[in-house]
This record gives sequence, structure tokens and C-alpha cells, in this order.
Amino acid sequence: MITTHNPATGETLAEYAELTADEIEQRLAKAAQAFAEWRNSSIDERTGLLEKLAETYGANEEKLAEMAAREMGKTIASSRAEVSKCASLFRHLAQEGPAMLEPELWALGEGKSAEGRWLPHGPVLAVMPWNFPYWQVVRFLAPAILAGNVGLLKHASIVQGTAALMEEMMIEAGAPAGLFQNLCIRSGAVNAIIDDDRVVAVTLTGSEGAGKAVAQRAGMNLKKVVLELGGSDPFVVMPSADMDKAVEQAVTARIQNTGQSCICGKRMIVHTDVYDDFLDRYSTAMQAVVAGDPFDDATDMGPLSSMEQRDTVLSQLAKAQDEGAKLMGGDVPDGPGAYITAGILTEVPLDSETAQEEIFGPIAQVYRAADIDEAIAIANAIPFGLGSSVWTNDKGEEERFIRDIEAGMTAINQFLASAPEAPFGGIKKSGHGRELSHHGLHEFMNLKTVMRP
Ligand code: NDP
Repeated sequence: MITTHNPATGETLAEYAELTADEIEQRLAKAAQAFAEWRNSSIDERTGLLEKLAETYGANEEKLAEMAAREMGKTIASSRAEVSKCASLFRHLAQEGPAMLEPELWALGEGKSAEGRWLPHGPVLAVMPWNFPYWQVVRFLAPAILAGNVGLLKHASIVQGTAALMEEMMIEAGAPAGLFQNLCIRSGAVNAIIDDDRVVAVTLTGSEGAGKAVAQRAGMNLKKVVLELGGSDPFVVMPSADMDKAVEQAVTARIQNTGQSCICGKRMIVHTDVYDDFLDRYSTAMQAVVAGDPFDDATDMGPLSSMEQRDTVLSQLAKAQDEGAKLMGGDVPDGPGAYITAGILTEVPLDSETAQEEIFGPIAQVYRAADIDEAIAIANAIPFGLGSSVWTNDKGEEERFIRDIEAGMTAINQFLASAPEAPFGGIKKSGHGRELSHHGLHEFMNLKTVMRP
């Protein structure tokens, strides 16, 4: 059994029976069978299903949102927004997807030509995390449907109710049997599935450790893998920035989803001319953040996703202080639940372990930079390279950041958020490959080159 808990109260929510080896085999066989049919589906069938899924998610928004809020503690408002974003991705691909599958043509000289056809690839395994339990999966699922692939989901253990609802939504939307199946398994069962010849590729969103384990296994099997791993994104504030907006969004970046987001600014790197002003206002705003019941509309942020996640964050904070950093906030309130208050670490030594790590909780690190060169050097002095957010009204500085910050994404004068239309992904230890847009769609397709005389 896999047991789920409500991190806001500590109560047990439900128990889910782990699949046996025979049951996994049945689902793999069903996936292969579904692919044999879905690969021949028309574009209209695929976009029709995507439209239906958008409607189904819309009609079931409250039910879906409540499950995620209960299982991992996100606020009900943000949970609803996540479900709605999923619907918008289904709808976006239903409308814009066919154009992304148009063949490409190349002239070869002497009147010959080559054509690139986007063909389906097969059953893809998705190993997914709990932090955006619908959105992370739909980022994989919606393009898989459009591509003519089929999906197998190994979701995080703590969100098995959410995972089961996602399979239910597919059935309610009228998807063919086996097109998307939830595998209720622990991570130990993943290797055998990657080894199985019926599975052609793997996508994983999660920690560096999980990414390494899955990529290693996929590599041994010569199977393609897309990895969306952690990040400790820089949020750089220069003197020309709109300070009110920068402070406000630096707060949102760190408390959204109780700080458990891979792409939100985690390291605030502030030019020395505005450092004191920024820190003063930022400290006040972070102290005003209300942590509380995820189902209460007055709550800014819920608890962390589990007691284990809070233990991890608390041990990181203890280590940071041992290494010389100063902590404001990051307190554990009395009472049940995996709550922690928003906090700020300053004076983090650049050569410390803390400076290199992702803190998956509502704790910001604030650094002082003498000039743009130092700001970029601090931004890049980590193993990760997922996103970044830069605040400046100087065009020259903007171009420097775009060119020199080592990241897959840079947001200018706004905090970084994914969008259905734009590519999403990182470099360095934040992973490789892209999700969303035609780049994400094409990751798990066979680009067949057709040569003609
Ligand atoms: P994990 O990376 O461990 O979990 C993500 C998914 O991978 C889950 O489905 C998990 O299953 C699975 N998994 C874990 N280890 C393996 C493995 N060896 N082989 C196959 N599958 C595996 O995240 P955690 O929940 O443990 O969070 C730890 C840290 O990871 C966080 O503090 C944060 O830093 C980072 N993280 C980053 C995310 C992102 O969006 N980039 C999302 C979540 C976490 P199971 O749940 O059963 O262990």
C-alpha cells in the first residue's frame, strides 16, 4: 500500500494498492496495444480528444483542485489556477498543434528533395513530482496525445489520489483504453519498466538524484530521456529596476507553492546601490506572509508538501547558519502540519554548500553584487541552469544577462513562469531537452526523412 497524508494536518488520507508485477505487465501490454491503434489516429481525432480534455478539466476543476490541495498542501486558489492552466495547454495544442506537425521540406539540388515527417514514437514513461502534480504531467501528456504516442505515469508517491484522478479524466474525456495509464508503483519498480522493450523513452521531472538514476537506466537501454530537474534560479535586481515591482515579485517567487517550484527565483542578487533598500523592503514583505490553511482564501501559502520536506529544509537552514549565513524567519509554528514561515538568508558565503544548493521551501538567499559582472558571476556560480529573472531598465544590461546568464530561460522585469506556448527547460544540472511548444512536442517523435528523386 502507498499511503497519502494531508501535510496541513498530518492526517492519513488514503491507501493505494501498489501494482503487482503481473498488473504492471498487463498495463504495458495494454499500452503497446493502444499505441498500435493511436499511432494511426487522424489529427482530428487527436485534437478532438485534447478539446474534450480541456472541457473535462474545466468541468472538474473543483474536484481536481481539492485533491491536490489536500495531498500536497498548495492553496486551493493556486490549485484551481493549475487545473485551469492544464486546460489551456490541452486547448492550445488542439488549436495550434496541427501546424506543428506540418512536414518540413529541403531542396537537395539536381531537382531532388527531402521531406521531414513527424511520426509517433511509442509508449513513453513519465516519472513525475508532486509540486505541480497536474501541470507537470499535462506538460508531457498533452503533446503525447497530439504526437500519436501513449503515456504511462509513475507519479510521486505522495500524490496518488491526484494521479488516479488524471486517469479518471482521460476516461471521462473518452480517450481510448490504454492511451494514458497511471502506474501506482514506488520508484524501485521504475527500472524494470525502462528496461521493457515496449517503452521507447522516458521523461522525468524531479530531483538531480532521481534524474541521474533514470537517465542512467535509459542510457543503458539506449532510450531517449528528457530531464527537467531542480534549479536555484537567480533573481537579479539592478539600480534602474522598478523596485516596488521587483520586491513584490521577489516575494511571490519565493512563497508561490510554498517555495516548492523549480523555476522561481531563489537567489536574489542585488546591486550594491539598491541592496539596503531592497533588503529592507523585502524583509518587511516576507514577514507579512501568512502561512495557513490551504483551503482558507486569506492564506498566502500552505504548508510544505510533507514533514520530510520540512525536515530537509530545516536541516539546510541549520547548515547555512553553521556555514556563517544569517537567517531571518524560517520558523516552525506551534501546532500540527508541515508549516514553516517565510525566511531570508543573508551573508551566505559564496563557497559554502548552501550557495550551491536548491532550497525547496519559502526561504530566499540574498546576495550583494558590486556591479553587473559580479551579479552574473554569482548567478552562474551554481551547478544548475534552469531559469532566471532579471530586473533592469537598461537595454545594454538586458542584453548582457540574456547572453551571459547560464540558464535555459531568462525573464525580464517579471518573475519566470511557464507558458503553454513557449519552450521550457534547462542546461547544466537542471537537465536537458525541452517541454512545451513545438520543441517539446518533437522531443518524443520520429522525424522521418523521406528522400525523393
Ligand atoms: P524526487 O526527485 O525524489 O521525486 C520525483 C519523482 O521521481 C517521484 O515520482 C519519485 O518517486 C521518483 N523517483 C525518485 N527517485 C527515483 C529513482 N531512483 N528512480 C526512479 N524514480 C525515482 O523528489 P522528492 O520528492 O524526493 O524531492 C526532493 C527534492 O527534489 C526537492 O527538495 C527538490 O529539491 C527536488 N524536486 C524538484 C522538482 C522540480 O520541479 N524540478 C520537483 C520535486 C522535487 P517517489 O515519490 O515514489 O519517490
